[in-house]
Amino acid sequence: MTKPGKEVLFLALGGSGEIGMNLNLYGCEGKWLMVDLGVSFGNADYPGIDIIMPDTAFIEERKDALVGILLTHGHEDHIGAVAYLAADLGVPLYANSFTAALVARKLAEEELAETVKVHVVDMDAQFTLGPFGIKLVQLAHSIPDMCAALIETPYGRVFHTGDWKLDDDSKLGQPDAEVRVRALCAGGVDAIVCDSTNVFNASASGSEGSVRDGLMQVVGEARGRVLVTTFASNAARLETLGDVARATGRQLCVAGRSFDRIIEVARANGYLRNLPEIIDWDAAMRLPRNKLMIVATGGQGEPRAALARIAEGNHPLALEAGDRVIYSSKQIPGNEIAIGRIMNLLAERGIETITEKQAHIHVSGHPGKPELAALYRWTGAKTLIPVHGEMRHMMEQARFAKSVGVAEALVQKNGQVVRLLPGPARILETVVSGRLVLDGDMIVAADGAAMTERRRLSQSGHVAVAVAGRSARVVQRGLPVDPDDMDRFGQEAETAAANAAANSKDGEEKRREAIRLAVRRVATQWTGKKPLVDVLLLDS
Ligand SMILES: [Zn+2]
Ligand SMILES: [Zn+2]
Repeated sequence: MTKPGKEVLFLALGGSGEIGMNLNLYGCEGKWLMVDLGVSFGNADYPGIDIIMPDTAFIEERKDALVGILLTHGHEDHIGAVAYLAADLGVPLYANSFTAALVARKLAEEELAETVKVHVVDMDAQFTLGPFGIKLVQLAHSIPDMCAALIETPYGRVFHTGDWKLDDDSKLGQPDAEVRVRALCAGGVDAIVCDSTNVFNASASGSEGSVRDGLMQVVGEARGRVLVTTFASNAARLETLGDVARATGRQLCVAGRSFDRIIEVARANGYLRNLPEIIDWDAAMRLPRNKLMIVATGGQGEPRAALARIAEGNHPLALEAGDRVIYSSKQIPGNEIAIGRIMNLLAERGIETITEKQAHIHVSGHPGKPELAALYRWTGAKTLIPVHGEMRHMMEQARFAKSVGVAEALVQKNGQVVRLLPGPARILETVVSGRLVLDGDMIVAADGAAMTERRRLSQSGHVAVAVAGRSARVVQRGLPVDPDDMDRFGQEAETAAANAAANSKDGEEKRREAIRLAVRRVATQWTGKKPLVDVLLLDS
């Protein structure tokens, strides 16, 4: 049974070997500290699932030893699972005011505001949880108020970066990261646990301030309505878009509930003070076409988001031929097909689309190689543990770190317990990790019986057979049978089922199996498919 002794252990239960659902644990002197508790979003592998989260069984079994959950920033892959899993862990959360406000809304939606305690801490807070001394430092990212953490223990110091970039013109963040990080890490840290997302980028991520010129140009030359889509959580981008709207003589309106939420939280934290007045949709539609800028969610192709509905002509905000849609965001890998579907809908209607490939209208929130090298230097880290990446990203960061002078790098993945300090870092053992899914209202194993069955249903179709005496009835779902042939197919399947029932005299189980095989044979002959077949014997 894994129990941290006089050492520092590191264990990721999510986010190492994948991009999404971050959950990191630090162990020391019998205690555990959790950093982040995020989700991933559903994909074609999980039919009917929107939300995937890390399996927390390991830490739930040790929750008496858990001292708290530190949240680095408000992105869903870092806080999204709080509303589903934190109540069972029974410890308080620690987050800065902006992040805490986003978390509080989620807890309120799940009626957990009273159950889960959230401690609001300053962005440069210093506090102690069990054997862990924690010192926060704000770094730039694509959401306000991302805080990295220096974790101090009797066995050494670890710098946990969270998601970050370097940007001295980040709009809503503090400048001089170098000064602040160097001061915090004076004397050098023993290990850095670092974001791998953009390690393949040879150049730095670029400054938020630099996006303004590109947006000025593509908005300025537009003649009709302009719609800009970006992540709602990117409040700095919203601020930039407000500037651009004002400078190009356009009024601003927003579409997408997540924008309302972020604007409210950002304003409550002192941001977006200069945002122009946001007009309502009716007023927007009455403006001359070249006097409007719409900012909308849906840039990742999300089918229910504002942009999708506008593209389908299914929203109070309307676009037409000659209007322009600007994607001020990155295409997240995996979303290309969904994004393309919407771009094609727009193209068909004569609406022009501009992406980051055509103009400088987006910068990433994650560090490229020059930024990684700078942070290794500033922290003086002796050992790197890459996180927040697929295996290829983490391996590349390990190679890169060694090439620029970091003494040691260890690549781990979810479930591997690393003895980090005292070094050298090494993997001790592998513990239970995995994925849970939110399926309706239930949180269940991602590869449990229900999901396995649904995958089969979605691929193979289903036939139900009811048999009573000498007669059988068959219903099918999802088989590629021509509607005109459906009656004939049904009769043939029913005859096969009735014959199998009549000829089988070996007891109920064998009879059921004979019927199942007979019906499946008919379905395979007709369609080439092997559907799931369920047999109900009504007379036994
Ligand atoms: Zn993030
Ligand atoms: Zn992230």
